Amino acid sequence: MYTGLAMSCLFCKIVDGTISSTAVYQDELCYAFADLHPQAPVHILIVPREHIDSMMEADQSKGALLGHLLWVAAEIARAKQLGKGYRIVINTGPDGGQTVDHLHLHLLGGRPLTWPPG
Ligand code: AMP
Ligand code: ZN
Repeated sequence: MYTGLAMSCLFCKIVDGTISSTAVYQDELCYAFADLHPQAPVHILIVPREHIDSMMEADQSKGALLGHLLWVAAEIARAKQLGKGYRIVINTGPDGGQTVDHLHLHLLGGRPLTWPPG
């Protein structure tokens, strides 16, 4: 069931199965799936089931949800045996490189990652 701007949201459609994806983890609050264009051997997106445009719309009321998303990312990293390290990224807004306006965490790992990012 979509409301407002979420009607046309790619990740809302992935969450509800309208658009197919490769599931990695799911629970009542979030859905995690393989990135279509992986930038590392492990590249997984973790998205809240609830539509939130970006971190710019995430106020204190979303704190528990955001904490849960971070925990899920760390759990997936453990399951994928990323003991040598990994990166969790939240691109935010045009300058942050966000291309899909539904808040999401990238979990990247499986190779050494360079810093700083571009
Ligand atoms: P961002 O640039 O941070 O907004 O990240 C959006 C990510 O979504 C990119 O890494 C894309 O490769 C990924 N993406 C776009 N469409 C799909 C899709 N249909 N299934 C899985 N990942 C996707
Ligand atoms: Zn959405």
